[in-house]
Amino acid sequence: MHADLEALLRLQEKDKVVLQVEAAIKDLEPDIQALDAELEGAIASVEAAKTRATDADKKRADLEAKIETYRLMQERKRQRLEWVRGAKEASTLMAELDLARTVLAREEAEWVRSADRVQETQVDVGEWDARLTELKEAQAPKREELAARLAEYDDRLKTALAERQEVAREVPRELHDRYERIRQGRAPLALYPVTSGACGHCYTAVPLHRQQKLQNGDSTEPCEACGVLLYVEGE
Ligand SMILES: [Zn+2]
Repeated sequence: MHADLEALLRLQEKDKVVLQVEAAIKDLEPDIQALDAELEGAIASVEAAKTRATDADKKRADLEAKIETYRLMQERKRQRLEWVRGAKEASTLMAELDLARTVLAREEAEWVRSADRVQETQVDVGEWDARLTELKEAQAPKREELAARLAEYDDRLKTALAERQEVAREVPRELHDRYERIRQGRAPLALYPVTSGACGHCYTAVPLHRQQKLQNGDSTEPCEACGVLLYVEGE
């Protein structure tokens, strides 16, 4: 077999390792994504609980402001009542004061409910926070394991790429470029053996005269159908 072809086949073996490691890294992705999705869900729940707590706080503060305004109005009416001389005006003011008291009582009851709601939502935030912490703790060993595997694969990939570069130097530039161009295409590999007179990738028959050329090992013939480089195994 021609030395260039041998070098090219060695290169392809190294590239197979690179592809394997890359596939193994890709295989980890769904597990990492699942953990991330779970975590994001828990974070979203905490955020939603915090929003409810902020809303409850605001409602309570609004009610307090409203109640304060009613109190001031009531106070002014009470002061006016002290100065009023006419009986009719006095009874009107008294009726107004009665009504205001009713309104105030209603608002105060509403305030009590809003204060309860504030308490509830704060407890809720605490619970969701605790769940988030629990989830992080539960995920930690899985994440550590995945990170360790990823680090190992990254190391292997670095080694495989370095080895691949080393071998690539032995392949003539033009042949190497051709090899790379084929690898950009649809076939997973660039080189395929001729098996039973046919291309090992697409199984199209290889004409006899071309098989003959390949047998001599002096040229690398591309498959006429799929374009991969063909070679004849063995001597
Ligand atoms: Zn083919």
